[in-house]
Amino acid sequence: MPYAVTHILIPIITLDLIRDHYMKHKHAWTNKYIFAAGVGGILPDVINVFVILQGLFTGVTTNFRPYTHNILFLLIFIFAAEIFRRKKSDHKYALALGFGVGTHLILDLIILGGVNLFYPFSSYLYAINLFDIVPIGIRGLLGMDVAVLLLWLWHEEKEHKISGFF
Ligand SMILES: [Zn+2]
Repeated sequence: MPYAVTHILIPIITLDLIRDHYMKHKHAWTNKYIFAAGVGGILPDVINVFVILQGLFTGVTTNFRPYTHNILFLLIFIFAAEIFRRKKSDHKYALALGFGVGTHLILDLIILGGVNLFYPFSSYLYAINLFDIVPIGIRGLLGMDVAVLLLWLWHEEKEHKISGFF
């Protein structure tokens, strides 16, 4: 359960890096797909909005995380990409969203919170909880947001001279 900034920036940065350094057809993956990867990166946690609504209206809260933190949820996007194979743009949107969801699950699995990988077939929570092993706690998560954001800004300045926009 790293913070939103990390969840959004990690897929944006990794897809951007893969595009800039490893893709043959760089221009086929325009920034709108990179943006979609960022949206995918936070998508599994959007379900938490229901927790707020449920709390406000019923006074109780349910843990909705398992519904979006599993392999089946990720497969929806891979399946969609397959369906849209002939519609290049939708195909890439589905892949980018799936990429974001994938990085979200990996981050939650490794860092904090864990994922119910095989939900609804099994409720077992897979978790490495790196932040329990490395004792930096919640401040460490905040620091991670800052570090990720600064590294990304540095990369964007070096590769794309973004200071020109300001
Ligand atoms: Zn999550």
